[in-house]
Amino acid sequence: MKRIIIAIDGFSSCGKSTLAKGLAKSLHYAYLDSGAMYRAVTLYFIDNQVDYNDPAAVEDALHHIQIHFERIDGQNRTFLNDRDVEHDIREMRVSDHVSPVSAISAVRRAMVSQQQAMGARRGIVADGRDIGTVVFPDAELKIFLVADVDVRTSRRHLELAAKGIDAEWDDIKKNIEERDRIDSSRADSPLRKADDAVVIDNTLLSEEQQLEKALALAREKIER
Ligand code: C5P
Repeated sequence: MKRIIIAIDGFSSCGKSTLAKGLAKSLHYAYLDSGAMYRAVTLYFIDNQVDYNDPAAVEDALHHIQIHFERIDGQNRTFLNDRDVEHDIREMRVSDHVSPVSAISAVRRAMVSQQQAMGARRGIVADGRDIGTVVFPDAELKIFLVADVDVRTSRRHLELAAKGIDAEWDDIKKNIEERDRIDSSRADSPLRKADDAVVIDNTLLSEEQQLEKALALAREKIER
């Protein structure tokens, strides 16, 4: 059976990771959470007081950052220098800095080359902001997810509460809008729909409905 690359991009909290995990599970593919990598870099910068406006400090810090993923009890876990940071990288203190950190070209170069290595054998679903445009421009299936911002805020609020992370609805909405603004307007690899991406608006779709739609698109590519 042909193994393809599925690239999922879109604005913050659009349900990209839910869809990507669902597709990976259904197709027995690997899942690459590229946002977790940018979050892990940001956590390292915060914990080690790296001034991300100082290019030399950023370059030096990047040499000390190793990120890998493990599946534990069916869950994807992100490791930063062999420490499980899956919980910490979702905290608002990370969300508040991740977009400026992700706009730094040296950070992007380091992450993109690791992501491309992870996709070298295909059979992967990756989600992020530049997956279909920069990381895997040759992905067989590209999906661009969109959803109403209040629906996205409510979903994020529920998701954080389920993880035991306390955050105000208004703060979450502000953070989502600010990240969308920075991610879309940065000079290096701005968030945009690839010309050959299929748009799915999931504002009114259940998780199952969105997965059905995407699976149909994937099967079309796999069987072609
Ligand atoms: O996907 P998630 O919302 O966890 O991503 C966190 C942040 O990481 C985004 O707001 C964006 O600034 C950055 N990011 C990126 N490129 C990607 C994935 C995430 O710049 N491919």
